Amino acid sequence: MKICRFNDNRIGLVEDGQVYDVSEVAGQLPALKWPFEPGDQLIAHLESLKGRMHELKGRSAPVPLESVKLLSPVANPSKIVAAPLNYQLHVAESKADKGIHNGVHLPDYDGFASPVAKFGVFLKSPSSIVGAGEGVRIAYPGRRNDHEVELAVIIGRKCKDVGRDNAFSVIAGYAIGLDMTVRGPEDRSYRKSADTYSVLGPYLVTRDEIADPDALDFSITVNGQPRQKANTRDLITGVAELIEVASRAYTLYPGDIIMTGTPEGVNSIEPGDVMHAFIEGIGEMDVAIRA
Ligand code: MN
Repeated sequence: MKICRFNDNRIGLVEDGQVYDVSEVAGQLPALKWPFEPGDQLIAHLESLKGRMHELKGRSAPVPLESVKLLSPVANPSKIVAAPLNYQLHVAESKADKGIHNGVHLPDYDGFASPVAKFGVFLKSPSSIVGAGEGVRIAYPGRRNDHEVELAVIIGRKCKDVGRDNAFSVIAGYAIGLDMTVRGPEDRSYRKSADTYSVLGPYLVTRDEIADPDALDFSITVNGQPRQKANTRDLITGVAELIEVASRAYTLYPGDIIMTGTPEGVNSIEPGDVMHAFIEGIGEMDVAIRA
């Protein structure tokens, strides 16, 4: 199942490039009472709403996916977790290019099994999230602002201390994540958290549609020029272990997003550019950059 949020907070099912409006399903959600449980209500109840969504689809007149404005499929993530330096060739390019490491964010992880073993994971602000149709606004003009295309994992239920052996059971689905980044000396949580610096889209693909998240081709082009192209089998720390590491520190809530890390080929974008991102089994999306 492919679930999108579009236009004025409509909920859609996506099939064969068409969007079926199933927004009425939101009426089934339980009323909220303060204090609210963190996380996204729709994702929290997704399993029990799937049947109703299929019914509503049958009564909906489809519109082409290209004709709608795509918002983030997760409206209210409690947090965005991200993995640093999680592809070997990106570690190498980060070491070789001062424009990336800035003399501050050196990628060496001597004595540790992996960059994640040394650095752990980091957080991006939930307020940075946008959908493909909203685009990215350059927050730091005159500096190097980069694209990072990544497989994004969306957590389906509240969990803590999840072992890697049953980590897939807490996943609601997947999407393409763009971990937009300004290069410089500041902490990752600042450089990667400006408004619009986390793109999630084009929609959420439910877990059952992806046989193995650690074996997906993915890529990004900018204005049609190839930039990054890799396969998630080259993740240094794979999806299950990332969930283990993240949930060791944090309680994960429905709608929490894990950006799994970016491969080699990160590079700058400017206002007027259009990024085209693709992940096998998920889909593709155009994302515009503006001033
Ligand atoms: Mn990243």
